[in-house]
Amino acid sequence: MAETLFSRIIRREIPAQIVHEDEHVVGFRDINPQAPTHVLFVPRQAIATLNDLVAADAELIGRLVLAATAYAKSQQLADDGYRLVMNCNRHGGQTVFHLHLHLLGGRAMEWPPG
Ligand code: AMP
Repeated sequence: MAETLFSRIIRREIPAQIVHEDEHVVGFRDINPQAPTHVLFVPRQAIATLNDLVAADAELIGRLVLAATAYAKSQQLADDGYRLVMNCNRHGGQTVFHLHLHLLGGRAMEWPPG
């Protein structure tokens, strides 16, 4: 797959506000935040879309979710709640083709999404 800017953020070749980093997952602030807290959690391993996941990635997806929920708790978002979103391809609104999990919090979300 073609490399995206997220791989360059992970390698710290381009700047980002990194808020979480571990062996498997990096979390950084979205450059165009849609909520008071808007952080993207990305696997270090570049996977383009949800469609590219295989069974062996199950643990990695769990790690993404757990990194996001731990960060939400650390930011006192847990009680009021928050939203985790993964967009896939054109109809999902995906624009960067390196799998990522959006954490949106700090305001009430609407449903259904646009
Ligand atoms: P998606 O539309 O689900 O693919 O989400 C891609 C997200 O990446 C968008 O919310 C963008 O605002 C965000 N984004 C794009 N470039 C950067 C960047 N250099 N640093 C942080 N976030 C970015």
